[in-house]
Amino acid sequence: MRLPAVLFLASLSLLAASAPAAAQPYSGPIIDVHMHVGPAAPGAPNPATGQPTTANTDADRERLTLERMRRHGIVLGLVSGPDAAMASMRKAGGGDRIWAGAFLDDGRTPLPPAEVLREAFANGDLKVMGEIGAQYHGLDPSDEWFEPYLALAEEFDIPVGIHTGLAPPGTPYGCCPDFSVSLGNPLRLEPMLKRHPKLRVWMAHAGWPYLEETKAILYMYPQVHADLSVINWIIPRQEFHDYLQALVTAGLGDRLMFGSDQMVWPESITLAIEGVDSAVFLTPEQKRAIFHDNAARFLRLETAEGR
Ligand SMILES: [Zn+2]
Repeated sequence: MRLPAVLFLASLSLLAASAPAAAQPYSGPIIDVHMHVGPAAPGAPNPATGQPTTANTDADRERLTLERMRRHGIVLGLVSGPDAAMASMRKAGGGDRIWAGAFLDDGRTPLPPAEVLREAFANGDLKVMGEIGAQYHGLDPSDEWFEPYLALAEEFDIPVGIHTGLAPPGTPYGCCPDFSVSLGNPLRLEPMLKRHPKLRVWMAHAGWPYLEETKAILYMYPQVHADLSVINWIIPRQEFHDYLQALVTAGLGDRLMFGSDQMVWPESITLAIEGVDSAVFLTPEQKRAIFHDNAARFLRLETAEGR
């Protein structure tokens, strides 16, 4: 999602607070396919807890995020944000555990021309295309504007992460008047998926609350994956578990990937992990798949562990 969540989601603060403890906490490696970097938002209340962020400076945000990654065994994080912030995170200890993404998500400035991204993909500075926030721009991901970017992703075989589903309540009245709920419907991806059968696409936020549409796309397009970011800590825990269970019951558990959508609250990484780990209906194998193996396969990591 994006930073305006700071203000608009504060009222949801108590909803995700109580979670049943899992019988056996997950202790294996984790890949977080959805993180953001950039300026801190001092004092911003965490939308899940109502508590002010633990990161009050840019340096804090970076250090505390890396600290949470180490604490939870996050062996790889896909981040997006300003280039300098992504480079700084790698330098500050993240190293190869940080993959930088092209963040096409600012509703207020023009998207960078695809050609500007070409060099960064070619030299490996960027390894992912995403998060793509077309919905915030009032753009349909299957429309013409996206084609040059997709051509580039195809050329370099770069995974593409597209924002789907929810945004902070009130978004069209705040940052992004062009935002529309319906543009986050996973069905909007279908024409693009038909045109680009080889693209590695994943749906950020697993299309919530479009459950039927998410099932339909994942079922029909076996290359498509989905991340569980933000819904695993911002929406009510029971609602997240119902949604997750429905996708797993539908046979789609091997296409789901863990993500936190860490924005300006490093502690949200822990909350996101707890959101998945407290899902008592998941077997240890299913948890391992969601926390690590599905992403390792999707991202084509060289080794299973990545450590
Ligand atoms: Zn998003």
